[in-house]
Amino acid sequence: MMERIRELPELLPCRVCHEDCAYLEHENGWCCYITCGNCGSSTAFCAYNSEEEMAEAEKNAVRLWNFGKVIAEARLE
Ligand SMILES: [Zn+2]
Repeated sequence: MMERIRELPELLPCRVCHEDCAYLEHENGWCCYITCGNCGSSTAFCAYNSEEEMAEAEKNAVRLWNFGKVIAEARLE
């Protein structure tokens, strides 16, 4: 079995707006997070210091997103 590089588990639809447009974003090469392209909700930043840690941080961000640990940007009225 070949190990594929940078393969991420599937992202669930956004918990806040229920759109299926979540994606992984990197912030200046030190952390990453999952954010919703529709409403702007996101997970906490997952920091990393090396390539190896980056892969772990990406997985952590996906885990946070899929568990629903999401910071909602949308304002509730
Ligand atoms: Zn959303």
